[in-house]
Amino acid sequence: MIKQKEIVTKLAAEYDSFYLYNEDIIIESTQKLKMNFPRVEFLYSMKCNANPSVTKSVFAAGFGADAASLGEVNTAFEAGLPKGKIFFSAPGKTVKDIKAAIGKSHLIADSIGEIERIQSVAEELNETVEIGVRINPDFSFRGGNIGQPSKFGIDEEQIYEFVRSNNCKNIMIAGLHVHVQSQELDAAVIAGYHENVLSLAEKFQKVTGIKLKYLNMGSGMGIHYNKDSQPLDIAFVGKSLEQHLSPFCEKYPDMRIMIESGRYAVGKSGTYFTKVLDKKTSHGKTYLILKNTLNGFIRPSMEQFVLKYSADENPAAGEPMFTCRSAFEIFTLKDEKPEETVTLVGNLCAAADVIAEDIPMPCLNPGDIIGITNAGSYAAVLSPFQFSSHEKPVEIFLSKDDKVLVID
Ligand SMILES: *Cc1c(COP(=O)(O)O)cnc(C)c1O
Repeated sequence: MIKQKEIVTKLAAEYDSFYLYNEDIIIESTQKLKMNFPRVEFLYSMKCNANPSVTKSVFAAGFGADAASLGEVNTAFEAGLPKGKIFFSAPGKTVKDIKAAIGKSHLIADSIGEIERIQSVAEELNETVEIGVRINPDFSFRGGNIGQPSKFGIDEEQIYEFVRSNNCKNIMIAGLHVHVQSQELDAAVIAGYHENVLSLAEKFQKVTGIKLKYLNMGSGMGIHYNKDSQPLDIAFVGKSLEQHLSPFCEKYPDMRIMIESGRYAVGKSGTYFTKVLDKKTSHGKTYLILKNTLNGFIRPSMEQFVLKYSADENPAAGEPMFTCRSAFEIFTLKDEKPEETVTLVGNLCAAADVIAEDIPMPCLNPGDIIGITNAGSYAAVLSPFQFSSHEKPVEIFLSKDDKVLVID
């Protein structure tokens, strides 16, 4: 942390707003996942942070790619991942996407219509294509055998019917993908979900007679965004899955078992730093005007926005825009005790650009630095950098050997 403070001070002399990604933390989190799930292959959900250095670091830890667009397929492929480790899963893939991705990734069909579009591309190529299918399961994430309507995947019943009457001659179903929810902190809930996904894979094979080559169990593993929440007991989830995988893998020794993760792998590795540009008082309220808040790291302003318009004490999450109350810690590099009550706003000509109202802070003045935590996932990628044509924050990667890499 001391090391980080020196680096931040140095960087802030040059940049007024920047993301700092710390590779040590990426290594720690990815190792934690791998250690707790020894039978599982991990895929990095690139959409949470596609910064090239971050991506490279996660791939170096052995992760494959959960690509949510053709762009992410291309990035993963160009980063050197083989086709066997890139899985392209997203709703609404175009024929152009399918054609461009078919040689570089496993395609996960998100609907029956999409299977048919892949079939037409495969027929044109005169090839048989192995695909995965994303299933919208007949169980809910928190338990109970009730399927929910979803824009994602194919309902269980529909896939069985499709397989029965399949006339897609150039398609072979080789894998299943299930992902229902993100950001869960209750280990027992995730363990129950994993059990249900394994049962689904067994049932699918029994009903269809298809021998699956891979099962992608999706994500779900959350990070604790604030001090009030308990970190996920990942050892519990790992042990529980191992218990069920041990007999499962004996039965199906050739099936690859995969878990996807975005935020658990990199969420805690990033911090957003910005500078105080101006300080003023109005009718007794003290405002600190900061560089690039809503337009640099949108989620803290999104949180204020949701809380302002929701009557709920703890509004439901709307991932990945809003997770919970107090999802970010705002800190300064000053060691002094808080002595002022301030409202933190950004330098946009927009009233919604507020990240904190009336919070205690040490006395800050123009030039001082403010940090915001949990900026490693769904942070830079979600933020409207173009709004108002401001200079955008830079992204800086602090490598494990203390090299500082700046990406404008
Ligand atoms: C976004 C997404 C993930 C990643 O979720 P995290 O909470 O960041 O781990 C995994 N799988 C699918 C299908 C997703 O859309």
